[in-house]
Amino acid sequence: GAVVHWFKRDLRLRDNRGLSLAAAKAKENGVPLICIFLVSPQDYQAHLTSASRVDFELRTLKIMKEDLAALDIPLYVDTVEKKKEAPSRLISLMESWGVKHVFCNLEYEVDELRREEKLVKMCLDKGIAFEAVHDDVVVQPGALRTGQGKQYAVYSPWYRAWVAYIHAHPELLQESEKPGKNPSDTRNKFAGLFKGEVPSAPSNKRLSPEDQKRFEQLWPAGEHEAFQRLGRFLTEKIGRYKDTRNFPAAMSTAVVSVHHSAGTLAARTSVRMARDVNSTKKLDGGNDGIKGWISEVAWRDFYKHVLTNWPYVCMYKPFKYKYTNIEWEYNNDHFKAWCEGKTGFPIVDASMRQLNTIGYMHNRCRMIVASFLAKDLLLDWRLGERYFMEHLIDGDFASNNGGWGFSASTGVDPQPYFRIFNPLLQSEKFDVDGEYIRKWVEELRDVEGKAVHDPYGRGAGNIAKKNGYPKPIVEHSQCRDRALARYKAGIGRD
Ligand code: FAD
Repeated sequence: GAVVHWFKRDLRLRDNRGLSLAAAKAKENGVPLICIFLVSPQDYQAHLTSASRVDFELRTLKIMKEDLAALDIPLYVDTVEKKKEAPSRLISLMESWGVKHVFCNLEYEVDELRREEKLVKMCLDKGIAFEAVHDDVVVQPGALRTGQGKQYAVYSPWYRAWVAYIHAHPELLQESEKPGKNPSDTRNKFAGLFKGEVPSAPSNKRLSPEDQKRFEQLWPAGEHEAFQRLGRFLTEKIGRYKDTRNFPAAMSTAVVSVHHSAGTLAARTSVRMARDVNSTKKLDGGNDGIKGWISEVAWRDFYKHVLTNWPYVCMYKPFKYKYTNIEWEYNNDHFKAWCEGKTGFPIVDASMRQLNTIGYMHNRCRMIVASFLAKDLLLDWRLGERYFMEHLIDGDFASNNGGWGFSASTGVDPQPYFRIFNPLLQSEKFDVDGEYIRKWVEELRDVEGKAVHDPYGRGAGNIAKKNGYPKPIVEHSQCRDRALARYKAGIGRD
């Protein structure tokens, strides 16, 4: 026999609840621990996973395979073409290994919960104990309720409840034990599993060889890198986070979102380690930077709670149902210009080109381009949500959907629809010297001073034109009026 841990978006050995329980069970039963990961091309397709993200996961799996092998634990990576085959494949593998216990960490999206429901039933039929535990979030969905016993739809009171709950349950931040060594005969018994390779990316999600090299350098994979990155941030940058986090050129944020989303770093680990560098040893109080950063990691929990409580957000529905009937524009040229970073609004274009080049965008810029798509271009926010998922290396359904809902004013805890970002003011405020714009928009590199925020409007039209930089595709104040009218007319009843 053996005990199985099924890896999903929890790609690490350190501080992993499910893995730790699986290892303990194996030890208790005196049997080996076997780890599995299933690659599904159709799943990647269905979830719009970006090629850079697939590449990141596969590179991480290679590192994990070595780390686990050092403990005589095999990591078996198998491919299922169709995602619905996952439960039956798991069952047949487990039967062939004589497995009686399988562990995994929960994912909260509808498809994943349905898959697990199916697996539970199949495991019951076969007499296999199936245990899925909370690990992806610090506080499990459902734990925090308003005075009326409901899920919070507003962040601030939710956040206060989140902090109080963790302070009352310090075990939530406790580190899970790393698995120990498997029995020494495991390598003989399961020799084949140690030999198997991590597959290369499926053809529908493959980076070009040049990009593969580039992304490997830009985004080193695996939990060791995640841990180092977090450590550097905590010693060098977190203290000033509050004052610097909104400036995209400052490079002042942790850039660990890909790790939180692939699970190479647990949100729990991040919160615990940030708490430990705070003089108060609490999540709030003490240094404003530390408190602020923890509250950002909390947003991630918040959106997962929202998704779990209102699963229809997974089904192309806006959280605020009354926003279902806004009349959007259908303008492919505008959408294409937005995607390619050729709108003639330098801050928007710089942001989109950052995304297209490195699979990542600064949070302030995500808000700016999302607002620009939904309000200025008045295009359906779901087009933008989709494009983000297809290109972000840190794509995460709940955070992405939540961020788009916030910016389009259709989501939970949104900015009111009548508050519309002015891209030029955003640019002047958050990219004060135009450093971020010049970094990403080559055509504007030689534009000096404030003209970089609006070259055609501020006397740098000649340079912009010579370098082929487009004129603004829309006029902001007109767009603003149009958005106000359209939103007002479109909003129905709750
Ligand atoms: P830091 O500022 O260092 O924050 C630390 C961590 O907190 C992040 O790594 C992330 O895990 C979490 N976090 C921070 N801000 C948010 C937030 N607003 N919502 C949820 N979690 C947050 N984040 C994703 O991880 N995946 C997405 O697909 C995603 N899509 C977004 C789409 C839009 C339209 C918007 C406005 C935001 C989106 N975000 C998404 C949130 C945020 O932009 C990124 O998490 C952040 O920029 C990552 O950089 P960082 O690791 O340096 O963050």
